Amino acid sequence: MFIGHFGLGMATKKLAPTLSLGTLFMAVQFSDLVWPTLLLLGVEKVALHPELGGTRTIEFISYPFTHSLVGALILGILFGAVHYAIKRNFRHALILGVAVLSHWLLDLVVHFHDLPLTPAAGAAKVGFGLWSSVAGTLVVELILFITGIILYLRATRPLNAKARIVFWINIVLLMAVQLSNYWGDAPASVMALAWSAQLQWLFVILGYWADSNTEPVLA
Ligand SMILES: [Zn+2]
Repeated sequence: MFIGHFGLGMATKKLAPTLSLGTLFMAVQFSDLVWPTLLLLGVEKVALHPELGGTRTIEFISYPFTHSLVGALILGILFGAVHYAIKRNFRHALILGVAVLSHWLLDLVVHFHDLPLTPAAGAAKVGFGLWSSVAGTLVVELILFITGIILYLRATRPLNAKARIVFWINIVLLMAVQLSNYWGDAPASVMALAWSAQLQWLFVILGYWADSNTEPVLA
């Protein structure tokens, strides 16, 4: 799953209007933001199958720390704890912790049987495999994404033109990445995949930038 995660991040703004969109994006996508670094370090592993294409291009051989249920729980607790240490807002810390865990739960819907329950070797793997239908996956992702956009726009008031321009540039870029994941060329190598995945931090930065030019609508 890709834009669906960002959709949930935008929707969460409704629940916590004073949390920046950048922080929300970082939380919902935290597993996938940490993952490329662990790929580059050789800690987590994928294989590429360009001949299969689409949602079967990347085979997730091992990602116990970023994409096991227990791993996601630990990442969520860490994320919430760091936020609490900095901001002293327990409600926000809790929301962010759950947002980090949401990544695994949404991935569960689409991934093939490759999400381990625990980081232990030989742990049971799960995944409902919606990826077998690209159209079905895209519908679910778009519903989450569009709902998120609507809720975010309702939860914020732009202070200047930059607020919405940067927001919409981010939306278009996210959509472009989503489409290229399904219909673009396969990555040339695992290293190329990992480095291009690092570019996802750009969405976090644009989230902070757009959001800093808005004020929350406190209903
Ligand atoms: Zn993921």
